[in-house]
Amino acid sequence: MNDWITYFEQSGETESPSYKDTMAFFSRLEEKTKMAKLISLGTSSQGRDIKCLVAAKGNHFTPQKAKRSGKAIVLIQNGIHPGEIEGKDASMLLLREILITKEKKDLLDNLVLLVIPILNVDGHERLSPYNRPNQNGPRMMGFRTTALNLNLNRDYMKADTPEMRALLRLFSTWLPDFYIDNHTTNGVDYQYNLTYGMEKHQNIFGALSKWGQEKFIPHIKAETEKKGFLSTSYIELIRKELEQGFSDWASRPMYSNGYAALQNRLLLLIETHSLKPFSNRVYSTKAMVESSLEFINNNYKELKKINKQADRETIKRYAEGKTSFPITFQGTDEFSLIDFKGIEYKTEESTITGSVIKRYNGTPVDIQVPCYNKVEVTKRVKLPAAYVIPAEFKDIISKLKLHGIKVDTLKENSFLTVEQYHFTDYKFAERPYEGRQRVVVKCETIPVKIEFPSGTFIVNTKQRGIRLIANLLEPEAPDSFTSWGFFNAFFERKEYAEDFVMEPVAQGMLGEDPQLLSEFETRLRDDEEFRQNPQERLDFFYKKSVYFDRRENIYPIFRLMEKIQPS
Ligand SMILES: [Zn+2]
Repeated sequence: MNDWITYFEQSGETESPSYKDTMAFFSRLEEKTKMAKLISLGTSSQGRDIKCLVAAKGNHFTPQKAKRSGKAIVLIQNGIHPGEIEGKDASMLLLREILITKEKKDLLDNLVLLVIPILNVDGHERLSPYNRPNQNGPRMMGFRTTALNLNLNRDYMKADTPEMRALLRLFSTWLPDFYIDNHTTNGVDYQYNLTYGMEKHQNIFGALSKWGQEKFIPHIKAETEKKGFLSTSYIELIRKELEQGFSDWASRPMYSNGYAALQNRLLLLIETHSLKPFSNRVYSTKAMVESSLEFINNNYKELKKINKQADRETIKRYAEGKTSFPITFQGTDEFSLIDFKGIEYKTEESTITGSVIKRYNGTPVDIQVPCYNKVEVTKRVKLPAAYVIPAEFKDIISKLKLHGIKVDTLKENSFLTVEQYHFTDYKFAERPYEGRQRVVVKCETIPVKIEFPSGTFIVNTKQRGIRLIANLLEPEAPDSFTSWGFFNAFFERKEYAEDFVMEPVAQGMLGEDPQLLSEFETRLRDDEEFRQNPQERLDFFYKKSVYFDRRENIYPIFRLMEKIQPS
């Protein structure tokens, strides 16, 4: 047992091991027990191996064997934000109790565990005591982003990083029944040791939300409290002050919790409180992860049944446009008052800020706080039978496959009646976000009949990834490929007409078309700006001429409303 004292324990519970020392511990677990196997998920930008420990009884170390075993597969992820690393140290302590001392080996009766010690391995090695100004230890901590300065917990949909691609491959091959993502959060001071988040609004299958909110959360909250740690729902302030309330709305799919909802799976987001000492954060994380595993171990059949039901019924409900799919959400101004265990503070004038600043005094205080917890669907879309994707969009196809989406191809040239989206309005972000120039679009469909060559990709919506397909391929979805700027080139004008060439063409068009003439005259009369703008006036004709590029501002992926017979 003395051989198994962790680095965290040896350090007097103030430090967390390096990548190298962490991997050495996990390799030793694999060596010393038959119940563990270390697999490689892929390589980071700087060339580090991203590993995952599979802990299972009965040799269930492959996705096929694990699925066939009928057990629940649980993914525990640490270090997506490596500065927030206590999940890693908690996992090491817990795995020791399951695999080495075996006091908790019963947890593997009905579970196959996948434990990622560190997801953002490069960020983990960018060490400093100063990486998180609001955080109380460990002595040295990693940095939030990857070596390419990207935040992995914004990369779930666009999958720009090798780390996220490795994770998505793991997810789609193992298809976990439950997902735990460990973090640390800052913000206001309060008594709670940790906060938790779990999707529950219209972005997740109803029965999953119900199981999570009515069975899972009350259980783990009570059990974690029995172990000495207070918890409450994740705090996202509405404005600057806690007293103004916090929101509990649907998460966007670029985050782990919003993403899991699209995969029809529950994710428990654990956020310890950064002002609590590192040691306390390790043990509170361990307590909550442990309680979660106990509950799932005891209720694995029920959870797996609901997951299956979610996969089946989501297809039934949304494939082929039977029910419109909710694509955008917005929190409402409805709230309920909740009891909150705060910390007393007073405000003081600051000569630094020239304003007031909070001074917490450490005294517990029970207050009531508004919690905004209602969400409305702001846009629904009827989904097609399939999306038709021209062969040139190979990187879109490879990303769809990473997400576990099945893609077919046309075997012969085919005339298809499809819908095409025109971007009727669009606004580009002024600054880059996560290395991309985002765009918010509005679109309208028009029906067209087009001959597609053999080799064109077909993505049928009748598959378990239907929520993901809709969120990636419907342009107006907030984390679609369009919103993330994958199609920005299609908003650009690529060909121009000289005015001395276009003007005679315009004269000719007017001479041939009296209706065009009257339209032009009306516009001249009613639209002052137009009248004063020579380029706009010429453009009026150019856009209607045979020379205009009909693909400008057109989404290059098509919607096939009626299913075709595969040939
Ligand atoms: Zn985080």
